[in-house]
Amino acid sequence: MKVILLGPPGAGKGSLAGLLKEKYRVAHISTGDMLREEIKTGSALGAEIKALITKGALVSDELVTRLVEQRFAHDPDLKKGYMLDGFPRTVKQAQDLDVILTRVGMPLDFALNMEADQALLLKRLTGRRVCRQCGALFHMTNKPPAKEGICDTCGGPLYQRSDDNEATIKERMRVYRESTQPIIDYYAQQNKLKMLDANLDTDVLCQSLAAML
Ligand code: ADP
Ligand code: ZN
Repeated sequence: MKVILLGPPGAGKGSLAGLLKEKYRVAHISTGDMLREEIKTGSALGAEIKALITKGALVSDELVTRLVEQRFAHDPDLKKGYMLDGFPRTVKQAQDLDVILTRVGMPLDFALNMEADQALLLKRLTGRRVCRQCGALFHMTNKPPAKEGICDTCGGPLYQRSDDNEATIKERMRVYRESTQPIIDYYAQQNKLKMLDANLDTDVLCQSLAAML
């Protein structure tokens, strides 16, 4: 499996990737996760990234593309394929990704366009909770943990992302429509676009995707 998960914040890219990763053991390359890891190190670069993420702006194309390129050089799970989650997010990133994929000889199967109703996207984002330790995803009402504030998987503490507040979510949506949506056409023109109705639950999406492979 060599796919890109594409869609607005709250479409469920990360949740779907979590399921797929268990099932197919492919590399899960999430630029959001990689950037949050950099923030955790406390570096100066991490502080710059945090300021951008907190206001809902994009990090530079150069930086995220470099991170992805490094993953393609090292990640052992790549043998079984990859899921790109949150990358590419601009046409420039999509073009640079094509160069990387050609170089490593792992061409894309398809990009999966996940769209859902605006109200549902908002509900998913405002209720989202994340495990600080292992990154597992929960939701206050859709998928609450067995014990409040505690991760079912590893027992780590759950937190709410600093960009999951209404003002920042609005800005992330705007940035998505402006900078990321154009890459849908980019993949459509290459005949590499498939649609997935992301209003449906993650396990249903997982089955739909399995049928596309
Ligand atoms: P979501 O898809 O829910 O918005 P992500 O975890 O994918 O969340 O991304 C969170 C933030 O990280 C983005 O709002 C952006 O600031 C930054 N980011 C992640 N991926 C990229 C990327 N490919 N290019 C630029 N910025 C990125
Ligand atoms: Zn956990």
